[in-house]
Amino acid sequence: MNADHLMRPSRRQGGQDLAVSFEFFPPKNEEMETALWEAVDRLAPLAPDFVSVTYGAGGTTRERTHSTVARLVKDTTLKPAAHLTCVGSTRAEIHTILDDYKAAGVGHIVALRGDPPTGLGSTYEAHPEGFASTAELVKAARLHGDFEVSVSAYPEKHPESASFDVDLDVLQAKIDAGATRAITQFFFDNDVYFRFLDKAHKRGITIPILPGIVPVLNFKQTAAFASRCGASVPAWLAHRFEGLEHDLATRRLIAAAVAAEQVFDLLDQGISRFHFYTMNKADLVYAICHLIGVRSQTAGGVA
Ligand code: FAD
Repeated sequence: MNADHLMRPSRRQGGQDLAVSFEFFPPKNEEMETALWEAVDRLAPLAPDFVSVTYGAGGTTRERTHSTVARLVKDTTLKPAAHLTCVGSTRAEIHTILDDYKAAGVGHIVALRGDPPTGLGSTYEAHPEGFASTAELVKAARLHGDFEVSVSAYPEKHPESASFDVDLDVLQAKIDAGATRAITQFFFDNDVYFRFLDKAHKRGITIPILPGIVPVLNFKQTAAFASRCGASVPAWLAHRFEGLEHDLATRRLIAAAVAAEQVFDLLDQGISRFHFYTMNKADLVYAICHLIGVRSQTAGGVA
């Protein structure tokens, strides 16, 4: 009997129509710098659609984000996107940052509001001379340098949000201002992502909404981070990592299995673009890309 028809569609995928993107954060010290460029070097041959570099809370990594993105342009074949937040900056400062990115050859901004300087939970207040909303930042990036602009989306609602409707209004405003792609906060239960897509589609939102996938290497850390940004951690996930606090080797295998299961399920349900929060570590993300059929295309990487 030919069992091919019994296989899940994803298992037959050759990766032809898949697109992946990777998020990195700017390194703080020499050791982290080495780790970042090793990860970039390993993931670059997978020819991601783009890679993005985060912007520290309150703009604390302004210089480091810039130098990381500028080096990606200069030393690799990758197309980097620079994250940029409204927090703590005047409009004039943001315009200068945008000019600097343009001059460095960066063509893509991930535009964000950012968290209040006092942390999530406290009320966000825009800088008196800054942008009042992310939509204004999106507009500035479109008009001031014709950047491609991506924005955030929250399948489980932004923690400050009163309702999904408010979230979708905010997403729509960012699209009206010129955003052409959304990247979601990470999630573990694919149903929450599909429910969100459904709500967005019903509202007439048609831009790609890329699922943000986070590999769980350290369950405790991920769970703590998830609770701060409003992502739920299913009991089954906690159960899978239970008792492995001191067993890194097994944790790595479980993390790969969990992420592969999530990505295969998305693939089976028709999703073909994935955004990976790499945490500047390549192995797990590389393995998952390989599993779904994303293979080395060129000898990209660090020159
Ligand atoms: P927005 O999408 O503008 O708003 C988020 C929510 O706040 C809205 O959905 C709504 O519920 C509420 N809200 C906003 N404006 C209004 C309004 N006028 N009236 C009522 N409610 C409103 N943070 C960083 O500091 N640096 C980064 O590099 C970074 N990268 C990120 C990348 C991704 C893919 C994601 C999902 C998040 C990232 N963040 C980053 C976190 C982000 O800055 C925080 O979640 C922040 O609290 C919201 O920023 P935002 O752009 O998502 O906000």
